[in-house]
Amino acid sequence: MAAKHADFPKRPSRVVASRRSKTQEVDMRESKKDVGGQSRARELARAMRDVQTQAKDMRRRVRVQRKASMLGWLEASMLGHRMPSAAGLIADAQWKRDEINAYCWRCATTRAPFEDLERGCAECRDRSLGIHGVAFRATVRLGRYAPPLSQWVPAIKQRAWRDMGITLGRELGMQVVDALTEGKLARPDVVVAVPVHWARRMLRGIDHCQIIAEEVARLTGLPMASPLRARLALRQTGSSRDSRSGNQDRFLCRRQTLDRNQRHVLVVDDVRTTGSTLREVARALKQQGATDVTLAVCAAADPPRRNAMLRQ
Ligand SMILES: [Zn+2]
Repeated sequence: MAAKHADFPKRPSRVVASRRSKTQEVDMRESKKDVGGQSRARELARAMRDVQTQAKDMRRRVRVQRKASMLGWLEASMLGHRMPSAAGLIADAQWKRDEINAYCWRCATTRAPFEDLERGCAECRDRSLGIHGVAFRATVRLGRYAPPLSQWVPAIKQRAWRDMGITLGRELGMQVVDALTEGKLARPDVVVAVPVHWARRMLRGIDHCQIIAEEVARLTGLPMASPLRARLALRQTGSSRDSRSGNQDRFLCRRQTLDRNQRHVLVVDDVRTTGSTLREVARALKQQGATDVTLAVCAAADPPRRNAMLRQ
């Protein structure tokens, strides 16, 4: 058997292969020429399939991402495990603090176009800000109580977001320094944070106004004092505008008083809504010998009327 095979030497397979491939190529070229339309249709179908697969893949990826971000949000909001970097968020949102004349110097309401703010805005011009015996000097704000500030500022106390408190406190400090250098503000003598009841502070794990005020004091070079303490009052955040004005004696004086030369107090709060907190604070500060108050807030809520007007 082996000898018989030896009589017929094998043809070199490489040559055959190349020959075959050549003929195949010719065949294919011919077939393409013949049924060019069909092969183009096949290519088109393949391309369509590719696009569909890619789209499917993309949808799947989006689903996975959305699920991941939802989990991250849940984790952050319910467990408070991690909060994003305040500086990063501010950069991403391209957020900037307000120009000094973007809002009313008295009540911090957003300025309407061409509004004359000489004696305050249309919202506050005709009414006293209601601090008897204490001269109300001005309000400095970072911005309007609207996104993103309306998300960031409450989160400082609700989620013990120290990083955001420090970052916005620094911005507020710079805002006060700008107002001072532009001569829009008389220099206060001392910084006082709106006090929080100790039980609430323990519960939250943060004294948000204190953190903001510390940064303001650091940037302005003013001393800090804490001559007041808060009474445990009804929950304020949930209550409406009207009921907020009704709270009585929310702040009491501490034994430690303001120095005799600390007459003009810079009160630091997170949000101004109706100005009732400032009135309460001023009433208590008056007993400590304060004669002038200036308010610095991270955000100020516009009155509903102004909101409606600005939306038009
Ligand atoms: Zn005003």
